[in-house]
Amino acid sequence: MPDGVVEAHLLGVRNALGAGWRVLEAGGGALDAVEEAVVVMEDDETFDAGRGSFLNRDGRVQMDALIMDGATLRAGGVGCVERVRNPVRAARKILSESPHVYFVGEGAERFAAEHGVELCANEELVIAREVERLREYQRAEAEDPTSRAKNTREMGHPAPGSEMFAPTTSHDTVGAVALDREGNIAAATSTGGTLNKAPGRLGDSSLIGCGCYADNLSAAVSTTGWGEPIMKLVLAKWTADRVAAGNLPEWAALEAMNYLKQRLNGHGGIIMLNGQGQVGIAHNTPRMAWACKTAHKEESGVERGAA
Ligand code: ASP
Repeated sequence: MPDGVVEAHLLGVRNALGAGWRVLEAGGGALDAVEEAVVVMEDDETFDAGRGSFLNRDGRVQMDALIMDGATLRAGGVGCVERVRNPVRAARKILSESPHVYFVGEGAERFAAEHGVELCANEELVIAREVERLREYQRAEAEDPTSRAKNTREMGHPAPGSEMFAPTTSHDTVGAVALDREGNIAAATSTGGTLNKAPGRLGDSSLIGCGCYADNLSAAVSTTGWGEPIMKLVLAKWTADRVAAGNLPEWAALEAMNYLKQRLNGHGGIIMLNGQGQVGIAHNTPRMAWACKTAHKEESGVERGAA
């Protein structure tokens, strides 16, 4: 996160926190709270979710999202949607109104529309900043075709060129976790994925247990970062399991970031909490915007628990 965008990120996560908190304050559930928090960030062009997402190789926005209820383990996910303004709303409809858990592409969009979720043209989700970012990336790649291989080698990946992605590229996936007065926890994650991704590429964010997980018996977790390593480690579930085994979320979050770095040289960030309201926030990138509120205090920042 370059210096110039720190304020926008902080403002964005604080706005999302406010939206989620209002739900909880009014006696609403954790599931509603994480949905509303994520909608605010999808609508905020600062982040890689909803309008303003990174563009794929074809210059289109292609988004993934997941929402999960820790009380029942119900979950709803969408992958590779291109015409849903708020993918987390579609995911929530799947959780609440479908016997299925996961929809992709056109079928997901059809399900969303049939359940009252607003569709839009893909062009409405594309902003000038991202057109420029993609152009820059593709220009650099054309000038130095080995750059991708170099990047993967720098990250210690054994098969240069076979994997995305540039470690210098920022990750702006959004996520929220919440605990309500009934003692239920929930998590949601939403993303436009990685810059210049191949059409149809699905990241970790919307996969249960990878970019998002919630179980009252362990923890609610949302991750961001380079999706392929996170997926391979099933990182959200891995971290929740450590809480179930008796570790504090604060410690489990740090361990997750170390594990990601040490096992696959991956980079990213994580937010989590358990049913007792104990929070874990960590990242092994230089920065990650976060905000947290309890009945007693409110905090936010761009650095915390860097592993
Ligand atoms: N994890 C996301 C993905 O790989 C990207 C991100 O966090 O920015 O799709």
